[in-house]
Amino acid sequence: MIEIHGSPSIHYCLRCSGVRVSFEEAAAAVREEKMPLCPKCGKVLKPAITFFGESLPIDALKNAVTESQKADLMLVLGTSLTVYPAASMPEYTLRSGGKIVIVNNMSTPLDGRAALHFDDLGEVFEELKRQFQIT
Ligand SMILES: [Zn+2]
Repeated sequence: MIEIHGSPSIHYCLRCSGVRVSFEEAAAAVREEKMPLCPKCGKVLKPAITFFGESLPIDALKNAVTESQKADLMLVLGTSLTVYPAASMPEYTLRSGGKIVIVNNMSTPLDGRAALHFDDLGEVFEELKRQFQIT
């Protein structure tokens, strides 16, 4: 998995380098209606996700383009395909000769180029669980 928009699995302090807190620890504070705070300086922790206006992690983005170009099949799940650069990943797959399968209850700009299109993400995964006997 390449997380081009980061991940909430880690929260970190913008002031103290090296201070990292797990999602579970941050979530515990939020459940108690408190802000997740740095254990060292007390400032609010930031989840390691890319906020609006921040740059995407360039290595992750490059890897995502490379893997998209190598993919024989890309599952495009629950995205409107309107926010770039993430929306361009299926286009890289298509341009490289791969196929895409779109699962979304709304139309997307690439519906006409998808090998398959499904409306219901839950139904698709229930069927995959049945087909591959996943519990
Ligand atoms: Zn700190």
